[in-house]
Amino acid sequence: MSASPSFGGGLQAFPGDMDHSADASGLLEGSDIGSQKERVVTEEEWLQKWEMGNIGFHKEQRHPLLQKYLDVLLNGRSGLRIFFPLCGKAVEMKWLADMGHTVVGVEVSEQAVKEFFSDHSLPYCEEPVPEISGAKMFQSTSGNISLYCCSIYDLSSSIVGKFDGVWDRGALVAVNPCDRQRYASLMISLVEKNSSYLLVTVSYDPNKHKGPPFYVPESEIKSLFGNCCEIRCLEKVDDFSERHRQWGLDYFLELLLVDAVCLALCNSSSSASSPGSVAAVVQTLFSGTLALHQAGQREEGSCCKLVLSIPVNSCQVKSWQRVGKARQQLSRGNYHPARNAGGK
Ligand code: SAH
Repeated sequence: MSASPSFGGGLQAFPGDMDHSADASGLLEGSDIGSQKERVVTEEEWLQKWEMGNIGFHKEQRHPLLQKYLDVLLNGRSGLRIFFPLCGKAVEMKWLADMGHTVVGVEVSEQAVKEFFSDHSLPYCEEPVPEISGAKMFQSTSGNISLYCCSIYDLSSSIVGKFDGVWDRGALVAVNPCDRQRYASLMISLVEKNSSYLLVTVSYDPNKHKGPPFYVPESEIKSLFGNCCEIRCLEKVDDFSERHRQWGLDYFLELLLVDAVCLALCNSSSSASSPGSVAAVVQTLFSGTLALHQAGQREEGSCCKLVLSIPVNSCQVKSWQRVGKARQQLSRGNYHPARNAGGK
């Protein structure tokens, strides 16, 4: 058991389980999302939440899981373009910008966007977005934080470019269940091949709270972000608080998932057909930390799946499988290229 992160109330942390999927607690098994399936929160309702100050989702402190797993997001890279979908006034945007990254967010509430800049005493300018009727872009004078005030569904890579990293907290779980596929497809279209996507989801009994945040079953996350992906749970954290008790819940977990490799593979369907290029993707992602010796010769299938354990710097290749075919377990422990060079 690792040390508990500094969540309010000294809550317990569940270390990421690298050998099993995210359902070790049994709480994520169900794919039944109850009446949430039909629920729609309109943009107007979000604007009202901001007007009424009904923004319990906003945290004044940086998210402990982003602080803990920042290395996974950055992967040794500097000067990244990092995207914050449905950004609200997330304080992590300033934090990452101060590190030298370029931050882009999208938020439907102009109030939220303006509060972000005023909370951090950041001068900014605003300008229309010619491609999107009624949209505005608010940019810090220093130019490293750009917040689009519009619906995320109005964006495209031709407008905002592509990103090296995504911090998705309070975003997928805030999207109306009927819009999830559209959201996931858009997100996949907005990331570069070698990007890192950190996704925070929540787990609770969806029959007891209507959301948002919505409960997104693990099975749905997998299908949303592509079947050739292996999405890994880095950590599960008990985030239960008085607020959740008032919602009628008796447990509330936060999960941090990463799907860096899968996005890389999904986005390069043509190159993914070549195992050699899969190896190249992995080597790009984990440059200097993983010698994937002749891995390309191991599989000739058209779609391969790599299961990597985290942290990146001590990355282990656990298995390599061809989708639709029986899993070929190459190694149970550390993947030692030289030892496995015989193809066993
Ligand atoms: N990610 C933020 C805010 C989470 S709450 C954080 O971690 O604090 C979800 C936010 O999404 C709200 O601020 C809401 O106004 C905004 N939002 C809801 N629907 C949206 C949409 N279609 N496009 C852009 N922003 C949206």
